[in-house]
Amino acid sequence: MRPGECAAVLELLKEHFGYDRFLPLQESIIRSVMAGRDTFALMPTGGGKSLCYQLPALALPGLTLVVSPLIALMKDQVDALRANGIPAGFINSTLTAAATAETQRRAAAGQVKLLYVAPERAELPEFRRWLPSLPVSLIAIDEAHCVSMWGHDFRPAYRKLSQLREGAAQAPVIALTATATPQVRQDILSQLGLRQPGVFVSSFNRPNLTYAVQPKKGAQTALLELLERHRSQSAIIYCQSRKSTEEMAAMLTREGFRAEAYHAGLEAQQRLDTQNRFIRDETPIVVATIAFGMGIDKPDVRLVVHYDLPGSVEGYYQETGRAGRDGQPSDCVAFYSYADKSKQEYFIRQLEDEAERERAQWRLEQVLALYNRRTCRRRFVLNYLGEDWETPNCGGCDNCLRPTEQYDATELAQKLLSAAIRTGQRFGLQHLAAVLLGHSTRKVLERGHEQLPVFGIAQDSSVNELRDLAEDLKAEGLLETAAEYASLLVTDKGRAFLKNRETLTLSRPVQAAREVQPPLPGRRPEGAPSYDAGLFSELSGLRKRLADERGVPAFVVFSNRTLEDMARRLPRSLPEFAQVSGVGQAKLNDFGGPFLELIGRYADQHGLEAVSAPSPDSYRRERLNQEERPPREVSLRVRETGRIISGGASLAQAAAAQGVTEERVAHQLERLVQAGIPVEFWHLLPMPARRMRIETALRASGNELLKPARELLGEDYGYIELRLVRLALRQRRAAAPV
Ligand code: ADP
Ligand code: ZN
Repeated sequence: MRPGECAAVLELLKEHFGYDRFLPLQESIIRSVMAGRDTFALMPTGGGKSLCYQLPALALPGLTLVVSPLIALMKDQVDALRANGIPAGFINSTLTAAATAETQRRAAAGQVKLLYVAPERAELPEFRRWLPSLPVSLIAIDEAHCVSMWGHDFRPAYRKLSQLREGAAQAPVIALTATATPQVRQDILSQLGLRQPGVFVSSFNRPNLTYAVQPKKGAQTALLELLERHRSQSAIIYCQSRKSTEEMAAMLTREGFRAEAYHAGLEAQQRLDTQNRFIRDETPIVVATIAFGMGIDKPDVRLVVHYDLPGSVEGYYQETGRAGRDGQPSDCVAFYSYADKSKQEYFIRQLEDEAERERAQWRLEQVLALYNRRTCRRRFVLNYLGEDWETPNCGGCDNCLRPTEQYDATELAQKLLSAAIRTGQRFGLQHLAAVLLGHSTRKVLERGHEQLPVFGIAQDSSVNELRDLAEDLKAEGLLETAAEYASLLVTDKGRAFLKNRETLTLSRPVQAAREVQPPLPGRRPEGAPSYDAGLFSELSGLRKRLADERGVPAFVVFSNRTLEDMARRLPRSLPEFAQVSGVGQAKLNDFGGPFLELIGRYADQHGLEAVSAPSPDSYRRERLNQEERPPREVSLRVRETGRIISGGASLAQAAAAQGVTEERVAHQLERLVQAGIPVEFWHLLPMPARRMRIETALRASGNELLKPARELLGEDYGYIELRLVRLALRQRRAAAPV
């Protein structure tokens, strides 16, 4: 992109999507596409992939053809684009012939910037004949992992997509996916015939998701507790069979939850209805089969449960990835029993094709390795996806949240590495463990491995322990997995470790903690929201009404994030409303009026002002507002609190006198200062050294938010004293010459 183009693209970003800046990699990807290069973008769910082709689609002449397997989502995607003032259309099997013809006419007449089609449609001869008549500037292939048999959502029609090019020779192709192991990645590049593509891979870590695996014993109670904790939030529960989805949905209904089953055996219309009720927040819980989860997508899913085994680690990543697309904390909990494994192995044995059977077995083993792991699950998944994730403790999975201990792993590591070398580096962990533990399995005897000096030298250990160790050694770069058969290879670094007799310290969960139930996720202390919850709830009510009137899901109107930003900023005019993240020109015109009216009314009734501002920028804005506005009405009661404190009373005394909590007194002081009413409270402030530490922490976290400052300071510090110090800072600033 030339500089001018770049500015134009940023303008389109603000105008149509209401965002001020790009998310990581978006800009580089868009540059690559705009330069006419084939491009491959690998980004996690919620990373902002759609924009990577939607923005070029706007900037380029003609239209962008988007191939997507998510037929059930196409309408929502197109509605979302239209809500942003972008002409878009879709063609798939849910449309009548007349509607299809109409969309085709509009596309041919240049009235469509983005045209979504299903892959099965794209391979039809009629479509192929029609394509050259269109001014196609870009072909986007969404969910590109569907092209690979190694992936979990193989769609044969994807194999023919490379031929699409013939009808649109000039157009670059952008392939996008959220899941790709190195094998799948290679498949995408070769099968889609990308030509010297620009390849962009972002981190796959989803920091807002917490992972946990629990034994299935007592799972029903645990599940009900989980759902209780997430009551009236959206949740997806994955089960393996149609029957179990229905039984589970019925059980949850009996227990007083609103839940529906979703599986391939339902009529198409029924599936669509269930999905719509889920997306529209009418049914919070969907119990779905793993194979058919793909059509369900929603930004504010707070909980994903795997009640049965997922088909693969990518599948697990993808399915859990449906939680928290909006970036808010969300939980992923899996239940597991040994019986699940046997059941799965039984299914695998039924597969006719031998190669397919082997692949399925390999995938199952990887899932079990993830489930049986006692160390970081995030690290395992990310390493599996080919990412060098080195952080030893993620702080967001059951294993990392347990107390851990350091231990000397030198000896066991030497044994495992030696076993790999002695057996010719042609075996996976299962076999190496059998050798080390001294198990005379058939494979061991056939290869004569019971004769090796390493046979039985780690008898005190267990398969699980060795499995964890192998994962850690991989993460340390001493061991690696061969692509095809999961054989373990010792790296040069590993050989050096053996040769130089180096030592190795690793961490593992504290022994005693292994006996207790893993901590459930979702117990992170939630900071008080920095906006008014009542207002947020009214804003979502308004969003729902507007969405229902238009027959679209709520998030097509505004995302939760946008509503939160509104509740924080409290815009009072259209230009202020346009500043809210996620508000572009079209939404400003369509929705600005009703939202501004609601915010104005609510803020007046409740005496609200823009609270904690996230950036120094907005702080400045807030301060300006404070200076411009006349002092707000402050009740006599609050003024009385001010008088009591100014008279030298302590917080406790003032609280007792006024019949409120100390917390409340601190809030009232804030209101007084905000309204410009003089109040003396210096005697309530902590001693100078402590106060300075608090000031430093507040500054480090942008002066406004208490929670991050408290996190910096630790638990010895209380919120009330932080609040008072912040107030003193504000008072000082207000008094200082500007
Ligand atoms: P993906 O397809 O990778 O899962 P989406 O394209 O659905 O992700 O984007 C995830 C969320 O991030 C959406 O709500 C989207 O509007 C938002 N988003 C995308 N780009 C930006 C940006 N530059 N700034 C802020 N939010 C963005
Ligand atoms: Zn972890």
